[in-house]
Amino acid sequence: MNETDFLTLSKGNFGRIRYSMTKDMTLSELAVFAESLGRELAQAMLTSRLEEDPRTHPQEARCRHCTGRWRFQNTAQRRVIQTAVGPIEYRRAYGVCDRCGHTGAPLDEALGIPPFGPSVETRKKICHAAVVGRSFEAGREILQVHSNVDLSAKHVRWIAGTEGRVRKERDQERTSPIKPGRAPRPRRRRRDCW
Ligand SMILES: [Zn+2]
Repeated sequence: MNETDFLTLSKGNFGRIRYSMTKDMTLSELAVFAESLGRELAQAMLTSRLEEDPRTHPQEARCRHCTGRWRFQNTAQRRVIQTAVGPIEYRRAYGVCDRCGHTGAPLDEALGIPPFGPSVETRKKICHAAVVGRSFEAGREILQVHSNVDLSAKHVRWIAGTEGRVRKERDQERTSPIKPGRAPRPRRRRRDCW
């Protein structure tokens, strides 16, 4: 989406909430409607930002594990991801490192986008809802009411469980004793978890 398209969308959304279009709505209904219009603009901005990122289609990329050259298997692989402003769709180059076998997308790794599932900030909300909700069904309801995130209780359970395992492994790695005669391994910052 270019700037002209975005301004056209903004103008259209502004027109959709004018008095002549919403004169029968209550303030609560207007607030919910305004929020949905704002989310639509936020999704368009986010999508546009990813589209113009040069890492979407890099001329050349190096593996973050072994610095081997990446071979792209798909130069415009589609992905839909749930973010804090709703689902967005984008396309990016996806490939494999022939030296170590690592697969992924340079754009995702540069932006801290997890290799699967929702975005990091959405995972935070899901895990928080799963914990304070005392059950995954209650967590699902909290997400739907407070965050506009629509997932099944099973999905909430799977994501919260996955994040829990990742954090446990990371904590164990941090607290594990260093074996005699072996230098400690440098810790790699993971941008796809929190
Ligand atoms: Zn590699």
